[in-house]
Amino acid sequence: NAREDYLRLYSEYHTMSALAYMRYSVNTADEFYSAENDYYDEASPAVHSLIADYAAALLDSPFRAELERELSPLLFRSMELQRKAISPVIVDDMVEENRLISEYSKLMAGMEFDFRGEKLPRPALLGYLKDSDRTTRREAMECLGTTLEKNSAELDRIFDALVHVRDRMAKKLGYDNFIELGYCRMNRLCYGRQEVAEFRQNVLRDIVPAVSALRTENAKRMGIEDYKLYDNEVLIPGGDPRPCGKDGIFAAAREMYHAMSQETGEFIDMMLENEAFDVDSRRNKWGGGYCTEFVKYRQPFILANFNGTSGDVDVVTHEAGHALNAYLIADNRFALELGCGGMETAETHSMSMEFFAWPYLDAFFPKAGDAQRYRFQHALDALSFLPYGTMVDEFQHRIYAEPDLTPAGRNAVWLELEAKYRPHIDQRGIPYLERGTRWQYQMHIYETPFYYIDYCLAQTAAFQFLLASQDDYDSAFARYLHLSEQGGEKLWTELLTEAGFRSPFAPGALAQLAAQVEPLIRPPNI
Ligand code: ZN
Repeated sequence: NAREDYLRLYSEYHTMSALAYMRYSVNTADEFYSAENDYYDEASPAVHSLIADYAAALLDSPFRAELERELSPLLFRSMELQRKAISPVIVDDMVEENRLISEYSKLMAGMEFDFRGEKLPRPALLGYLKDSDRTTRREAMECLGTTLEKNSAELDRIFDALVHVRDRMAKKLGYDNFIELGYCRMNRLCYGRQEVAEFRQNVLRDIVPAVSALRTENAKRMGIEDYKLYDNEVLIPGGDPRPCGKDGIFAAAREMYHAMSQETGEFIDMMLENEAFDVDSRRNKWGGGYCTEFVKYRQPFILANFNGTSGDVDVVTHEAGHALNAYLIADNRFALELGCGGMETAETHSMSMEFFAWPYLDAFFPKAGDAQRYRFQHALDALSFLPYGTMVDEFQHRIYAEPDLTPAGRNAVWLELEAKYRPHIDQRGIPYLERGTRWQYQMHIYETPFYYIDYCLAQTAAFQFLLASQDDYDSAFARYLHLSEQGGEKLWTELLTEAGFRSPFAPGALAQLAAQVEPLIRPPNI
């Protein structure tokens, strides 16, 4: 009965804080919701401390064995791990960390980029990095660099404060540095630092050479001999396939989800009926994309910043993959406590959905041949993401192992890793960014430390769904729905085994994956 009371209260709290954050993120200049968001920044550590008390009552109960049997042993393991990440002695530091994160998001959301006489928010400027004209791309990247440079003192100050507050919390809890605490906070139950280190080695050995060769070859096809940072977002000569506009994208999404299965059809109708999307890019709107949910109302919500590129399609595939999961697990017995599982599981839901959209792409890309161009770009981007994401992960390990690095020292680490993971890219010649500061607009690095390798792990699972769907789409999709429906009630590695897939930590797993995926990355005849 106490647990039921707790779940009711937690659902109320979770819903209200998610609503406040959503309102704040759609307009970070809104005074009321900005104050609401500040309130939750301050209140959430105290709430988490109460949640920890509740967990402690279960963990330390003389009836623990009976409780584990009645509830779920995994729930207890998860609570054990969370207990390692929280204590009343770090509540003030957590408040400070939240305040710094909000400071960073506000700085990034309010940053204006003067580009060719227009004042643009960052997502709109980043759209120009996909322009087929190389001069436009170079100028856009220069504009990005010089504007970031104007804010560099703030960007460095906030990050340095974040690193130190995180390091301080870790030390108060008895850890050497923030790395172990970061893993506990990510609630990683089925792999640790050792496995992640092996995964990084697998990526370096088996993926980096393949990606570098594919990217260099592809750049040559576009007439680029000196591959620069501003060439990295274009893969198709003549420019990216452009999707139909917003209305077309939503119409195509509705049709696609109805064709996939009955559950997905009902899901998309509910989302559209309830207007659970905000996708227009505006000044002061938070610059990323996310999917959240208002659990009390069983309502997922998606925020994005459409910019007319093929990335807009990802919103109704990737983010909708998260939303579908929230919809499917809304009535699960442990949905509130175990959620969708670890972030690698969550991203498996979303990244796999991007690939399940492949047969339906003609409706999103009206121009003849564009769907095929998109598939090529999508697969190459996804494979290229593995080195990039792994680099972000290694960067964070290095940063938190050496919290006293200077800003210049941190940038030097970034440049060193660029040379290791993306040797084909020439960083020189771009103001500010050539100094190794590209990480400053990779928002996860400030906002959610160690949340990045999860995308890479999930990408390997998504590729396995893609390969399976090419053999037998319906069987692969049924396995996908089954995986998603279980939410966090099974570990990611168990879910993969159940779906018939290999673990990416296994020796040689990535070499085999690269060999199977490479044939799918055939440049379209243009
Ligand atoms: Zn995602």
